[in-house]
Amino acid sequence: MLLAHRIRLDPNNVQGTYLVRAAGTARFAYNWALAEWQRQYQASLSDPALPKPNEAALRRQLNAIKRTDFPWMLEVTKNAPQIAIMQLGRAFENFFVHRARFPTFRRKGRDERFTVSNDQFRVEDKRIRIPKLGWVRMRESLRFAGRIVSACISRLAGHWFASITVDMPDGLSLPPTESQGAVGVDLGVKKLATLSTGETFAGPKALRTLLVRLRRLSRQLSRKVKGSRNRGKARLKLAKLHARIAYLRGDSLHQLTTSIARRFHTIGIEDLNVKGMLGNRCLSRAIADMGFGELRRQLMYKAAWRGGQVVVADRWYPSSKLCSCCGYRIESLGLDQRQWACPGCATQHDRDVNAAINLRNMAVSSTVSACGGEGSGLARQRRAKPAPEKQESSGKAALRRIG
Ligand SMILES: [Zn+2]
Repeated sequence: MLLAHRIRLDPNNVQGTYLVRAAGTARFAYNWALAEWQRQYQASLSDPALPKPNEAALRRQLNAIKRTDFPWMLEVTKNAPQIAIMQLGRAFENFFVHRARFPTFRRKGRDERFTVSNDQFRVEDKRIRIPKLGWVRMRESLRFAGRIVSACISRLAGHWFASITVDMPDGLSLPPTESQGAVGVDLGVKKLATLSTGETFAGPKALRTLLVRLRRLSRQLSRKVKGSRNRGKARLKLAKLHARIAYLRGDSLHQLTTSIARRFHTIGIEDLNVKGMLGNRCLSRAIADMGFGELRRQLMYKAAWRGGQVVVADRWYPSSKLCSCCGYRIESLGLDQRQWACPGCATQHDRDVNAAINLRNMAVSSTVSACGGEGSGLARQRRAKPAPEKQESSGKAALRRIG
């Protein structure tokens, strides 16, 4: 299993200049290869004797001319141009199998990154050694002990990060869940989430003020003259705020998923379709922003690390409309209706807690029947999917709370 740990870098001025140059070299090589790919492809159409373009040939071609045509490329690690072209090859592969769109040119200011392979860098406690640059300070040490595969150095909102990919054959094996019990998680309209235990996760509080500031900054940016220095400054300010909001949201999502995966063995969640959910402007901003898929992905791999499991309800499972006591199903329930009384058994329900309890019951009954008990309708709705291959843990947020 590949795990990536993203660590903030603290380069000095000279190092910062190098990083900008290496990222620029990678971008140049990528764009050069993309243009060359298209040219060679057109040529091969008109003359079938010519070979179709491929990334290995393009790398050899660039290596042959870089000394004379682009001598500045030699000032940074040779990985910067090489791996960029390999990434272009992968982008085309993804395009050919309809996984992605046709590759586009990288842009300055947006695509500031380069990758180094494991034979080209070294990590030692809180520092990383990059060829032709030397040691760069990191904000924390690498948390995963395994074979290092590669590192992607990138810039976001003025800060540099190293995302170090480590191969850990067994993933992380963490202590098993604190209880072998089950829990249902209802994703909130105003709150981030409600558990079947009655607990609620409110989500980040600072967000509201930041969102007000975000509106103000984007307004200021739009008034600045295009191409002016003040516009550049305003843009960086806005980018920093965007990044900060994303960190806050990512952190609260990680706190939620870690807390659940640490405490419960069986976790029942809804299968919200992401597009429909984004249309719902009320849904908690932390989830709407990260996407429901991200929450599910985190729960899946964090549960797997502790031997737990996630059960996803069918998309049409009416978790809010069923009475968790007697199973009565009411016809309609408005989004603003926080409380309701069951006509069947007269129980007073809190909308979110009731939905969470239903999800918990769904998870329990589907795992029981999957283990050889009586088959029920819910069993067919169980969809166990393997955890995705690569998991990215962002900076400080992700794993500190797992231990
Ligand atoms: Zn009832």
